[in-house]
Amino acid sequence: MGMRCKRCGVKNSEVYLAYSNLRLCPECFMLLTERKVRHTIEKYKMLSKDDNIGIAVSGGKDSSSLAYILSKSFEKIPMTLIYIDLGIPEYSQHCLEKVKELSRIIDRELVVYSLEKELGFRIPDFKSTIYRRKMCSACGTIKRYLFNKITYDLGLTKIATGHNLDDTVEAIFNSYIEGNVGALIRLKPFLPKTHPKMMPKIKPLIGLTDMECLLYAEYRGLPIRTLGCRFSERSRTIRRKEILNLLAEKMPSFKHTFISSHFRRLLPCLEAALKDHETKIYECPICGMPTSLEGAPCHFCKVVSTVLKRKEKSAMESG
Ligand code: SF4
Ligand code: ZN
Repeated sequence: MGMRCKRCGVKNSEVYLAYSNLRLCPECFMLLTERKVRHTIEKYKMLSKDDNIGIAVSGGKDSSSLAYILSKSFEKIPMTLIYIDLGIPEYSQHCLEKVKELSRIIDRELVVYSLEKELGFRIPDFKSTIYRRKMCSACGTIKRYLFNKITYDLGLTKIATGHNLDDTVEAIFNSYIEGNVGALIRLKPFLPKTHPKMMPKIKPLIGLTDMECLLYAEYRGLPIRTLGCRFSERSRTIRRKEILNLLAEKMPSFKHTFISSHFRRLLPCLEAALKDHETKIYECPICGMPTSLEGAPCHFCKVVSTVLKRKEKSAMESG
């Protein structure tokens, strides 16, 4: 005998949300998910009428759900999907096809930035550099920088990313473990402009779990990638993820409670305490973009020059 949907009463309540002990049918689940995202957006005042936003898309479940929900809920706000082609064999092409299809479905423009065409290297080139054991760190630096820069260059007002509840709980947990207070303070649902070239960042999915994002994308039939990146360093972070998931198993509302106490109670105290020594912002002598490093190239320029030098060297060696 099927259990009834708590919202509409039909019998196919396929979805069970343990944290709120709610059984829902797919239709009600999708509507509720969209409502949650709109609620997050209102709560943190993420959008305004005159916005013209960029949405960072990757072909994954989170960013595809994000683009779909934003586009559906805020029809009048101009939106541009931004995809960075990292040049990872098979994977990047596969993801590009997914985001192209997404852009067709929601009828929003897609901007594709190719690392190879624009900068002359691809992510696999890091294999022969000092970043060989931290490919994701180099890749992450590049993506963060470029999403900001592209948004700025296109004259958009904000950039939306698909970070969800699980990602954020994990990031906060890691910052605690490492005592990285600076990172902790930047992990906000809405990071406003701190410099003319530092675009405001919004995370409308911050209230949705991994599972909710996946189910949403699946029920809506959104195009999402089925291949994984060969450089993924999941094994590194998997233990911490497991610990958090164990906690959530024993205490279904753990992640929601953790994050809401953090934003509501702890973050304001941290911000007040650190007000006087806010990190200064400088301009990178190479690219002119904002950086926390004084008089030195920004992280992005450092990473890029490392890989380009390496490429040059191997080109010379092979004649
Ligand atoms: Fe980049 Fe790592 Fe993601 Fe691959 S898994 S796309 S290397 S961040
Ligand atoms: Zn720079």
